[in-house]
Amino acid sequence: MEDWTCLDCTAINEASCRHCWKCKAPYRLPPAPLTEEEVRQSHFVNGDAPNTFRDLFLRRAGDAVLINCEEPSKQKSVRLVGVHGEYFSILDLQGRQQTLRHYPYGAILSCTEHDGALSIEVHRQVFTKGAFAVGMSIPI
Ligand SMILES: [Zn+2]
Repeated sequence: MEDWTCLDCTAINEASCRHCWKCKAPYRLPPAPLTEEEVRQSHFVNGDAPNTFRDLFLRRAGDAVLINCEEPSKQKSVRLVGVHGEYFSILDLQGRQQTLRHYPYGAILSCTEHDGALSIEVHRQVFTKGAFAVGMSIPI
């Protein structure tokens, strides 16, 4: 038994002590070193990647992004002007007309980062002239 470092307060204790001299916490075994597999897996967990779409968008705040805001399968260039708690806002410039659109993060189907540009795909309702809707019909 060697001197041990208290896991609670980091004080160093003599081997014979069963409780930390400083904080009185009982001796605890140090955590086992990570296995090779755990180290491999840890590379895929978060790292530098944003945890949420909100975090992803914060990095793009103010930038031009692509989004299918008008037609389900057509991407349009807009500006990401707001990244809020439960929704994000885009500014759609059409000549002199400015339209602010707000979407909840839950409306996002996927985001694609291609050549430095972010494109966002959101749920859109699709209606045909017939009685049946094709594609997605998920209300937003
Ligand atoms: Zn201690």
